[in-house]
Formats: sequence, structure tokens, C-alpha cells
Amino acid sequence: MISEQLQTAALRLRLATLACLVIATPVVAWLAGDWAATAEREALRGAAAAALVLYQSNLVSALEKHQTVPFVLSEETEIKALLRQPDDAALIDRVNRRLEHVTVTSRASAIYLMDAGGNTLAAGNWNTPTSFIGQNFSYRPYFSDAMAGGVGHYYALGSTSRVPGYYISYPVRSVREVIGVVVVKVGIEELEAAWSHGEERVLVTDSDGIVIISNAPEWRFHTLKPLDSEARARIEASQRYIGAPLDALPIVPARAGDHDELAMFQAKSVEANPRIASVERYLIQGAPVPGSDWYLTVLRRTGTIRLRAASAAVTGGFAATILIFLLFHFWQRRLMWFERLETQRRMRVELEDEVALRTADLTAANRRLKQEIAERRRAEEELRAAQTELVQAAKLAALGEIAAGIAHEINQPLAAIRSFADNAVILLERGRDDATRANLGEIAQLTDRMARITRQLKTFARKASGTLEPVVVADAVEEALALLATRLRAGRVDIVRVWPSGHRLWVIGEVVRLQQVLVNLFRNAVDAMAGRPRRILSIELEEQADRVVMRIRDTGPGIAESELPHLFEPFYTTKGLDEGLGLGLSISRGIVRDFGGTLEAANHPGGGALFTLILRRAEPRA
Ligand code: ADP
Repeated sequence: MISEQLQTAALRLRLATLACLVIATPVVAWLAGDWAATAEREALRGAAAAALVLYQSNLVSALEKHQTVPFVLSEETEIKALLRQPDDAALIDRVNRRLEHVTVTSRASAIYLMDAGGNTLAAGNWNTPTSFIGQNFSYRPYFSDAMAGGVGHYYALGSTSRVPGYYISYPVRSVREVIGVVVVKVGIEELEAAWSHGEERVLVTDSDGIVIISNAPEWRFHTLKPLDSEARARIEASQRYIGAPLDALPIVPARAGDHDELAMFQAKSVEANPRIASVERYLIQGAPVPGSDWYLTVLRRTGTIRLRAASAAVTGGFAATILIFLLFHFWQRRLMWFERLETQRRMRVELEDEVALRTADLTAANRRLKQEIAERRRAEEELRAAQTELVQAAKLAALGEIAAGIAHEINQPLAAIRSFADNAVILLERGRDDATRANLGEIAQLTDRMARITRQLKTFARKASGTLEPVVVADAVEEALALLATRLRAGRVDIVRVWPSGHRLWVIGEVVRLQQVLVNLFRNAVDAMAGRPRRILSIELEEQADRVVMRIRDTGPGIAESELPHLFEPFYTTKGLDEGLGLGLSISRGIVRDFGGTLEAANHPGGGALFTLILRRAEPRA
């Protein structure tokens, strides 16, 4: 039952693990990826913002560096003098050299002086093939701005050099009137070169959204958004970016829902590199450039976001898988542990049950045994009591018989004594002292014999002591024969004794009871031989290793085969009611068993009954 529950739990655990692997692993991978992407995006944004500030200050300081040059020059007397006397060749030469010197020292791209009509009077590049002298730049906004009394700022491609530059113009005043304009053209190559080392792509766009400065030169003079025709016409009229394509960069806004800073550049068309046909994603951050209408934009590749997200997803998924497996392992161990505990518990319970069962069995068996023992004891006691009673009864019966015999035995000597006594009186009167003495001697002998008879009677009447002791077997035979003397004589039975002479055989038994057994056997033999022509009672003793065998044979009719099995049963008798109780043999066998011996009946091949009594040998008593 419990084991089934555990099996279900194990199955459930496996299913749960599988479900976790299928569901949790992708979810964790996705979450990790998303988290990493967000973190990386934030990091990129932070880096881009920092870079933006740097580029901004870089750009501003680069432009401001040249700001003072046209102002200082506009104050110089020779420049003002030249504007008043534009044909003074010596003066032109001096101003040219002066501008050339300042160009070199300030590392400007060009410095030149225009009159109020926009004609270039002197220039730092006076002695180069692309000299500006004689050219008219009145169409440039920076000229008109300065002529209006302000400072002009302008970015454009050089009309002669085609080199892009930043123009800063300043009015030259005579008293209050603007009489000319000093212009410094600042090259942006250095700046671009410095920026080219950065990780980011940097763009500076003008108010029309045209890229004017960039560390990606191929992006220069393209637009972030397509120009409308009006703007295009205006820009062309200004000759600002003569010959420049002014095409929109192939920017595709990032997918809907994505971060608005994200944009996609189709690098292939942008970089005109057929090998890089990939789509590049950038994170865009921008800010206006102070002191101008420019806008500075920093772009950072977002490739790392995907990379980080992918690696985080893989790591997360992997970690989740490992964790799930670890948890699975842990739970499995737990289940196994439970199962082991359960098995142990079950085994213990089974063992206890079995022990209880066995104990109950044992207790029951014990109780039964005790009962049986008690019953047996009671039966034994009853039996013993019955036996004792029977023995007593048999004894009494025998006694009665013996008493009759004894009366007869005693009567005869008594009568003899009487007549001897009467004779002695007569002899005494006659003075025959010798004869009288002889008569008295006879009387004494007769009383001796009577005393012997009564002594035997006393012995027989004694109750069995119950303790076994060494007994001289031949003496017991003689005592028994003496007890039966009257009957033996009446039956005219001859006794034949066959036993070793010279030493006495001792057996284990009890005198009285052994005599009782022998009296029984002898009397049966005498009874059996009554009326038979030959009446011989043969008693044979044979000494064996640890026992003594007594064979009692008579010359009676023997025992019928059908009677043999019942002979030793109590109250089995073939004699008349007055003659026998049928207890003799049964009691005798009981007594012999008590002595540790056996009593068997058989027929002698030569005729008559043969009783074999086997007794244990005993060491002679001192
Ligand atoms: P009881 O002598 O009172 O009959 P026993 O137990 O002594 O009782 O003898 C049982 C029977 O065994 C006798 O009735 C007799 O038939 C038979 N029996 C005993 N001894 C002899 C014997 N020596 N010869 C023939 N039969 C015998």
C-alpha cells in the first residue's frame, strides 16, 4: 500500500521533472536572456551617453579654438589698411604673408580676407595653385552674416578645393561701417581622424539632417532622412555641398516595440562592401552641439546585446537544467530514503507480528503442556493410589490364603506340642526324666518352627517401602516358597532349583514386593498343575552381564495362544470367581517394571508355561 504510494510519487516526480525541463528551462533561458539584454542595453546606453558628452566637448573645443583668430585679425591695422587701399601690392604681399603665418601657426585650413563685395583680397594660400585670391564668396551665408555685423559660422565643401571645412567669419570695421570680412576655414580631417579610433560611430548633422562630420567617411554628405525637393533645391543653390550625393542613408527604424534608440543600418549598401551583407543594429544617442545648429549623434553597435543575451540564455537554461536535475536527484534520494524507512518499518512490524504469533503459539503450547503435565500427574497419582489399593487387596487375598495355610501349619505343631506336653506330664510322673527332656526338646523345636512361620507372616504384612535396594534373589525365592509351603505340599509339587552354587546373586528390587511377585508366579504354577500327573516347578537363575534372568517353568497345560496377549491385563482370569481376581500378573509386571526389569509369559517347547523374569544385577551389600 505504502510502497504503491511511493511508486506513484516516484512516477509523479519523474513527470514533474520532465515538465520542469520542458517548461522551466526555456522560460529561465528566456528570462536570463532578456535580463542580460536589458542590462547590456543599459550598459551600452550609458557608454554611448558618456561617449556623446566626450565627442560633444571635443567638437566644441575644436571649433572654439579658432573662434578668436578672425576676431584678432579683424582688428589688425594692416588688414584694415588693405581694405581701404586694395591695390597696394606691397600691402597685399604683407597681409598675404601675415595670413599665411597665422594659418600655419593656428593649424587652420585657410584664412582669407574679403572686401565688402565678397572679393578675396588676400589669403594664406596666396602662393598655392588653389589660391583664393581674386575669388568671390559673396554667395556664402557666412559672408552675408559677417557683413551684417555678426559672426558667421558655416560648414561647406570648399568651392575650389572641394575639401569640406568649417568657416568662421568676422566683420572688419572702420569706425562703425563694415568694410570687409575675415574668414578662417577649419578642416575637420583631424577631428575625424581622432574620432576614427573610437568604438562608436559619430555623426554630426546640419540643420537639414545632412551628415557633415563622421568617423565613417562613407556616410559623409548623406542624409538621415530623404530630403524633400524644396530643401534639395535650396541646398544646391547655396552650392554648399557641390557634387555631394545627399542620398538618404539606408536606415530602417528598429522593429516596432523595440527600443526607439535602436536603428538598423543595412551595412552592405552603406559601406558598399559586398562581403558585409549583414544588417547592423545600432543604439542611437544624440545631442545638439552648443553654439551651432548642428546635431551630434553617437551610434553603438548592439551586437553585444544579442551575444550577451544568447550566452545568458544558454547559461540560464543550463543552470536551470542542472538545478532541475539536482532537485530531481535530491527528491529521488528522499523518496528512496522514505522507501527504505518504510521497508524497515514493515520488516520490523512483520518481525514483531511473527514474534507475537510465535510467542502466542509458545504460550498456548506451554499452557497446554502444563495442563497435560498436571493431568498426567493427577492420573499418575490416581494410578498409584489404585495400584497401592490393588496391591493391598491382592496382599490381603494372599494373606487370607496364607493365613488358612498357616492355621493349618500351626495347628499340627500345636497338636503335637499338646500331645508332647501331655506325654511329658505322664513321663514326669513316672520319673522318666530323659524321656520327659526329649519331649520338651521336641516342644521347643516345634515352637521354633511356629516362630519362623509367624516371622514370615510379619515380613509379608509389612507395607512396601518404595525404595530400591540390593536383594539376594535366591533368598527371596526361598521365602516365597516357604510362604506357599502348605499349598506346595498339598499339591504334591516337586521343586527343582537350578542356580549357581557358591555365590549369591544380587538384584535391584525390594524384598517384600519381589516376594509378592514370586508368590504370585509360584501359586499360578501350582494352580495350573492341579490334577496333572507330573507336577514339577522348576526355578532357574542365570547370571548375565548386568542382569539376572529367572525362568519359572511348570508342567501344567500351558497358556492358550489366544490368552497370551491378555495375560497381563488387570482382572483377566480363567479361574473361578472364588479362586482368582485376575490381578496377580498385572500387579507383578508393574512391580517388576518399578525394579527396572521385565516379566514375559510364554509356553515351553517341552510343555507347560514358562515365565521369564529379568532383573537388574546389583552389587552385593556389605
Ligand atoms: P488369577 O491367578 O487370579 O487368575 P493371574 O493374573 O495371576 O490371576 O493369572 C491370570 C491367568 O493366567 C490365570 O487365570 C490363568 O488362566 C493364567 N495363568 C497364569 N499362570 C499360569 C500358568 N503357570 N499356567 C497356565 N495358565 C496360567
